[in-house]
Amino acid sequence: MPVSTRSLLAALLALALPSAAGLAQDAQPDAEVEAPAEPQAEAGAAPAEAAAGVPEILDSRITATEDRARLVVDLSAPAEFGVTLLLDPYRIVVTLAAEGAAQARAELTPNTQLVRAYELRTASDERMQAVLELNLPAQVQQSYTLEAFDDQPARLVLDLIPDDPARFAANAESGSAAEEETAQAQVELDGAQFAPGETSVASNVRPLIVLDPGHGGADGGAEAANGLQEKNIVLAFALKLQQLLVETGRFDVALTRDTDVFLALEERVALARVNQADLFISLHADSFDEEDVRGASVYTRGDEAADILDRILAGDENTADLVAGFGPPADQPQVVSVMVDLLARETRRRSYMAGQALIEQLEPSIQLRRFPLRQANYFVLQAPEVPSVLIELGFLSNSSDTANLTTDAWLDRVAAALARGVATYFDSQAATGE
Ligand code: ZN
Repeated sequence: MPVSTRSLLAALLALALPSAAGLAQDAQPDAEVEAPAEPQAEAGAAPAEAAAGVPEILDSRITATEDRARLVVDLSAPAEFGVTLLLDPYRIVVTLAAEGAAQARAELTPNTQLVRAYELRTASDERMQAVLELNLPAQVQQSYTLEAFDDQPARLVLDLIPDDPARFAANAESGSAAEEETAQAQVELDGAQFAPGETSVASNVRPLIVLDPGHGGADGGAEAANGLQEKNIVLAFALKLQQLLVETGRFDVALTRDTDVFLALEERVALARVNQADLFISLHADSFDEEDVRGASVYTRGDEAADILDRILAGDENTADLVAGFGPPADQPQVVSVMVDLLARETRRRSYMAGQALIEQLEPSIQLRRFPLRQANYFVLQAPEVPSVLIELGFLSNSSDTANLTTDAWLDRVAAALARGVATYFDSQAATGE
C-alpha cells in the first residue's frame, strides 16, 4: 500500500478511535499544506551579536559523495547568509555576512563527487563567499545555522542533493557567469530562497510518526546522580519533538504516552502497528557502567529476531492482511510466512535509512557516541511493517550528558536535528517513489 494511503488510514484511525487506539495525537489542521518549516528563522538572528561585530569564520569544509554533499562553516556566532546558483559551470555560492581568512580553491578528491572543488573567498568588507563547483546540477536540500553549544562552535550547515539541469537553470540567477562577481549584491541575506523539504512531494496526506517516550509510571528507567529520571526526560523531549514536527505542517505526530504512565513494550509496538505508523521513534536516555561513555546514538533492528517477531505477531489473526498489497495474494500459511519475512526485511532497510538520516542531522549538532548508528534486537524495533528506530539521547551515567539532558538549549538543538532528519528521510522515500 502506498505510504499516503496508509497515513490517511492511520490519521483517521487515530482521530476516530483515540481511546481505542490509545494514542496521544496532535494532528495539524488541514488548511494549508506544504509550507515546510521556516528554514532559518534563526539564521537572520544574532541581533545580540550585531553590536559585538561581524561573525568570524573559523573554518569551513565540504564532505561529499556522489549523491550528497554538505558544507559546514564554523563561526564565532551565527551569520546571515544567502545562496546563489550559477551556470556554466554549475556552481553554488553561499554568501555570508562574516569575516575570516580565505581558503584557496582546492579540488576534492576523488573527483567523482557532487562537488568538484571548493573555495572560500573574501567578497567585500564583512562578506565572505563559499564557492562550490559542481560536477552535476544540485539543489539545496536544506540549510540552517546552529548556535554554539557544548564544545562546538556556531555553524552554518548546507546540504546538497542532485537536481536536474532544467530545474537548476530555472533556479539559477538569470545573469551569466560573468556576473558572478556581483552575485553577492543580488543575494538577499535572509536565507529564504530555499526551504527544507522543498524537494518533497506535496501531499494532502501527512505521514504519521509515533514517538515513544521510554519507560513511565513505576518504571523510571535510568537515573542520574542527582535523582533525575529517564522517564521524565524522554517524555518532556518527546513533547518538544512532537511540537517541532507538527509545526512543519508535514506530519501527524502521536505519542505512545503523554503522561507518566507505565506501558508494556507490546503495547508500544501495537499502538504503532494499529495506527499504521510510517515511522516509530522510541526515545531513551539510559546509563552505562562506564561513566566515561557519552553521546547520542541511534539503533535500528538487527537481523535475527524471529522469536520477537513471533511474539509480536502472536494473537495477530490476520497475518495475511499484513502482507496484502506488499506482493501477490498469499493464502497458504507458508507463503504468508515468506511474505512477512520479506516485508520485515524491507522495513528493516527503511529503518536503517531513517537511522542514517537522523545521524546525518545529529552529527553537526551534538556529540555522538562512537559508531553512532547501531543495531540491536530491542523489542520495540521489531514491528514487521513499521520502520522503527530507538534513539539514546545520551547517558545519565555521564555528568556532561546529564547536564545536557537538563539544558533546554541542548534539547532544542537535538529536537531540531531530529526533525530535520525525519524530513530528509521522508524526502528520500518520496524521491524514490516509495
Ligand atoms: Zn531507556
